[in-house]
Order: sequence, then structure tokens, then C-alpha cells
Amino acid sequence: MSDVVVGIDLGGTNVKTAAVSADGRLLGKDSRPTRSEEGPEAVMENMAGAVAAVLESAGVDRSRVQAVGIGAPGPMNWQTGIVYSSPNLPGWRDVPLAEAMSDRLGLAVYVDNDANVACYGEYWLGAGQGVDTMCLLTLGTGVGGGIVVFGKLLRGIDGTAAEIGHLKVMREGRTCGCGATGCLEAYASVTGMVRTAKEGIEEGRETLLTTLSGGDFDRLTGKMISDAARQGDTFAQWVERETGIWIGIGVSSLINLLNPERVVLSGGMIAAGEALFGPVRETAKAMAFDVPARRCEIVPAGLNEDAGVLGAAACAMDRHAGNVR
Ligand SMILES: [Zn+2]
Repeated sequence: MSDVVVGIDLGGTNVKTAAVSADGRLLGKDSRPTRSEEGPEAVMENMAGAVAAVLESAGVDRSRVQAVGIGAPGPMNWQTGIVYSSPNLPGWRDVPLAEAMSDRLGLAVYVDNDANVACYGEYWLGAGQGVDTMCLLTLGTGVGGGIVVFGKLLRGIDGTAAEIGHLKVMREGRTCGCGATGCLEAYASVTGMVRTAKEGIEEGRETLLTTLSGGDFDRLTGKMISDAARQGDTFAQWVERETGIWIGIGVSSLINLLNPERVVLSGGMIAAGEALFGPVRETAKAMAFDVPARRCEIVPAGLNEDAGVLGAAACAMDRHAGNVR
């Protein structure tokens, strides 16, 4: 009986792997360094080793595995399973990830975008449970996004849909990691928050961050900002609020575009709680149309770092059943 799926969350730093039962129970987990600097072949060998280890630790025979799902950083083609390139995976160019992993494992392998699978994980077992239409924003170095509409993950024709971080929020704004200017990510990510702080400090604002960073503002981190804010530093509190306002601007567009029941925010930044969610909700409510804004809940993620592996498993299960267009 094939009643188990394996989900892999392929990140630039770590590969996380989990064996999951078809009804969503986590049977076993593994996390190991990606070894991305060794190139695609070594990374894939590493992932195959992680799958073997997780099945062994869960006591699951390979014959019970329906399929393997991988959430990978893009751009990619989800239908062919080819990863075109990735800023976090050096040397990856047109890697046939699904096929090469399927050959290694002797199992069906499906590849999807990492933020998309995290969204599907939250939809299945996390903060999106019980709703039909939702979005996820992953607030980290960048801003990743995922969208579920009527219970289906919105992949787009090529699989590049839901790049919420690259919604344009300014005509001529900050330069984004993608090369364009004015993207939401350049303001709403941790990197964007640090940039907001640096700009304020350059304007001469007094702040604890001067001490916390040892006067070297290139060493500023999101954690320093949240620590300073919690210690009552009014400048750091202003930076956090500004970041929340930018996120809220992005969320207001999602609300007007999709009329979702829930928008889920994930990433280390959400530990700030109301200091972040307050301005996000106020801004989204003020800027979006009234009816969808009242309907939409803006909530923290429920799965944290398991969203990727659970979502990858769920995507693989759906796709293996032919339940995906
Ligand atoms: Zn961008």
C-alpha cells in the first residue's frame, strides 16, 4: 500500500526532508546542509541520502512511498521539473531536477516553487486550514509568495505565478534583487527593513542600533532592529512600523485582486507580533476595498519551518493523483 509521501524543501543553506502520511502526519524528519557550493550533482546525491535516512528513521519501506515532492527555488518549469537557475544554488543551469531525482530514487518526483509549496503546506495543515482562497507571504531575505484559489495552488502557465514580492509599489523606488525597481520586496523583506533603518540613521536619527551594531551599519540585522524595538527604542519601533505599512500596502493589493479569506505571513519577522501585524492590518484595511478587507483575516503562519516539507509532500500527492492542472 502506498500511503506515504516524501516532501523535500531545497534551500540554499539546508535541505529539509520529511516522510508524511497521506492524512498529514509527520512520520520522520531530516535536515542537513545543502552543500550547494559542490554543485547540482552533489546536492542531488545529498537529497537522495536524506530520503533514504528519513524513510529508515520512520521505519517506512520504499514500496510504501507514492511520490516525492521537492520545493525548489526558481525560476523553473513545474511541469518538466527543470530548474533554470537559482541565485541560492551556484552552478544550477537547466537542471532536470525531477527526472534526475526520479532516476536516483526509483520513485515519481514532482518539483514546484518553494514559496508556492510553503503556501500549500499552510493551506493543508497550517494557518490556512478550513479556507478555500488564501495567500502566503514569506518575509525573509526576500519576499516569497503563494496563492491558493478555490483549493488549488495558483502556479500560472510556467509556474512563475504568485511572485508577490515583486508587486510594484513605487514608480521609481529602491532597486530590488530581481533587477527591477520599486518592488514590494525592497521594502517589506528583512533586507528592506534593514535598508529603511540605514536610511533613517543616515538622516541622523538617534538609536540604540548604533550601539547594537557597534557603529558598523553594514552589520545591522533584522534581529537587532526587533531587539532594539522591544527595548523601547523609538527609532527601531518606527522602522518596524514602516515595514508593517509596506507589507500592508502589498496585502491591500492582494485583497483587492483575490478577495481571499486569509492572508498568512511567515518568517522570523512575525515574532514582532502586534508591533508588525497592527500596521499591516490597519494599512491593508485602509487601502483595500471595504467588503473584501472586512472579510480577510491577516494571521501568522502555523507551521513555521515545516510548511515547505509538508507542502511539497501535499503537492506531490495531488500531482501523482492527477489532481492538478
Ligand atoms: Zn523585484
